[in-house]
Amino acid sequence: MNIQTQRKELFEELKRFGIHDIAILKAMKTVPREKFIPKNYQYLAYADHPIPIGSDATISQPLVIAMMLQELQLKEGMHVLEIGSGSGYVVALIQNIVGKKGQITGIEIAPELVIESKETLKSIKIPATIIGDDGSKGYKKNAPYDRILMSCSCEKVPQILFEQLKEEGILVAPVGNWLWQTLTTFRKKKKQIIKESGELVRFLPLRQKD
Ligand code: SAH
Repeated sequence: MNIQTQRKELFEELKRFGIHDIAILKAMKTVPREKFIPKNYQYLAYADHPIPIGSDATISQPLVIAMMLQELQLKEGMHVLEIGSGSGYVVALIQNIVGKKGQITGIEIAPELVIESKETLKSIKIPATIIGDDGSKGYKKNAPYDRILMSCSCEKVPQILFEQLKEEGILVAPVGNWLWQTLTTFRKKKKQIIKESGELVRFLPLRQKD
């Protein structure tokens, strides 16, 4: 199947699985996923599965990314933090949704991915800040955030991330161990955190810095 047919089919699949947010569909149409993928896998750019990107990491499955973005309820102008920004693909999608007035910060622990993702984002003119560090402490300098997305899993979301979240903010994270993770949405209301578990997912775990 050629890349264009794959791309069309992927959109039908996203809609079939309940992705109805127009801004997400538009972002996924606009951002070229193939640019974030190693050359030898580019023919699979629009197939609905994760793809290895080096440094033991994968670019996540498009449907799962779309589900996470839909849970985040992103709007223009928002400030967003992604932990585990890997290839930079999700950063690019979020930037497309929040627009010029928005601000997106990605944190990635693998140094090679930090270098590569910065280059890719620059080459397609996506303004974003990529920080090479352990994201489990968040990134205080650009806090507070309207939205925080964890693209790696944890058994318990670090408390400091909730402190960097604005009132009425939303944090989405895959919560659980390697065998059992659920896409979990946390909403901050009147300083309380309200938790809601969603679909089963499988993400790489949040790593500690060596
Ligand atoms: N969103 C990415 C894919 C993420 S895969 C994309 O679109 O390509 C999960 C990523 O989390 C990996 O790149 C991994 O290196 C990173 N990661 C794991 N532990 C981390 C930590 N403590 N801080 C920051 N990034 C981390």
